[in-house]
This record gives sequence, C-alpha cells and structure tokens, in this order.
Amino acid sequence: MTARAPSRRRPAASPAGQADLFAPPPPDVARAASTATPLPATLPDVADDLWERLSRSRFRARFHLDAKDRAYLQRQGLRSVSEHAADFIATRLAPAHPHKDGRQTPWRGHPVFVAQHATGTCCRGCIEKWHGFAKGHELQQAQRDYILAVIRGWLLREDPGTHE
Ligand SMILES: [Zn+2]
Repeated sequence: MTARAPSRRRPAASPAGQADLFAPPPPDVARAASTATPLPATLPDVADDLWERLSRSRFRARFHLDAKDRAYLQRQGLRSVSEHAADFIATRLAPAHPHKDGRQTPWRGHPVFVAQHATGTCCRGCIEKWHGFAKGHELQQAQRDYILAVIRGWLLREDPGTHE
C-alpha cells in the first residue's frame, strides 16, 4: 500500500471536488489552517518497505491512535490534520538545529504526534535513522513532503475510515 496523492486514490465525491484534499478548502478550514505551511499539490509515494520495517520495531509498532485521537481526526478531517502536520514539520523538524531536538514531539495530545513516534519522524535523530535525512541540515521541501506523506500514510492505515 502506498501513500499516493489522495486526488488519484480517492476520487472526489462531488463534481465540485470538495472531497479532494487538494481542492481549495472551505472558508472555515482555510481560516483555521496555518497559511505559513500550505499543503503541497502532490505527495511522494511511500515504499511498502517502510511499513514492514516499522512493524518489526517493537518500540514503533506499539504506538496507536486512542479514542480521543480518532474522535479528533473524525472531527477535524484528514486535510486539517495534515495541515497541522505540515506546520509541525516546518517549525519543529525542518530547521538544521531544531529547538529541543529529540524532545520536541509530545507522546500524546494530537494524532500527528502519535503518528510521528510510530513512523520515526519525531525528531531529527529518528528521521536520520529511519529515513536517511542527515541531521544538521535544513530539511528541503521534498524531504518535508515525504515526511508528511509518511505521517498521512500512517494515519490512513491506522484509521482507514478517516475522511478529508
Ligand atoms: Zn525521535
């Protein structure tokens, strides 16, 4: 299973395309979203091998969404939660030397935090180990997009019924 651009994997439910992640958000979502970190038009594929490797890590595999996380995901929708993820990536991970690196991602309190621990995208050390992006260098846009694709991919695998 790969994390493709949802516009291809999940056809829009209406001709207006409102179920499409990459369609313009309705005004209420646009207002709540960070304007500093817009979602990319497409996301890279995530190799199946990553999910296999993560499943073999007892530490990573024990992370799961709890009832509160699932309720939040249902309420907010995947698009909004993905915007939060893009914001966390930009502010907490992308700098060459992030603030409090290694401790910048809480264990709980947001579904994206859980997804980050589950996927080795919680800090620059884990990102280097699991995804090969060297510490000490600012993350490039393609790397940020990949991390976002991994987080979204995990959320969709964890809660396949989630909607945009
Ligand atoms: Zn970490």
